[in-house]
Amino acid sequence: MPKRKIVRINEELCNGCGKCVTPCAEGAIKIVNGKAKVIREELCDGAGFCLAVCPVGALTIEEREAAAFSEKAVEEHLKKQPKAEGPVIKCFQCDANEMDVAIFAVRMKGESRWVCAHCVPSLIHG
Ligand code: SF4
Repeated sequence: MPKRKIVRINEELCNGCGKCVTPCAEGAIKIVNGKAKVIREELCDGAGFCLAVCPVGALTIEEREAAAFSEKAVEEHLKKQPKAEGPVIKCFQCDANEMDVAIFAVRMKGESRWVCAHCVPSLIHG
């Protein structure tokens, strides 16, 4: 198996809050027995969009031997998933939710937050 970048979850730090589930577009992370898990290596592309939302710093990217990322596996996996899984994400500034507007994860003042597309400019320009 070749080495590649993949998400690592520190189970001692993970509190099972589930905030990392929604940002994973591939559906690679699930909460299993109260802890986040990468359920299948081939679903994790190692992009790390989940990292910013973890409130306890349990998520990192590591380079190790792992099954290759597979877009085909992701496509098949996502077809089997229910549409809205996990909590609806809201913008910390205006309370808009992900059903109405694109939401992005940001790190601010040492905290992970969600911000909507409408409020991003005010964060950038003040
Ligand atoms: S966001 Fe962090 S603490 Fe919450 S479930 Fe994911 S890894 Fe665990």
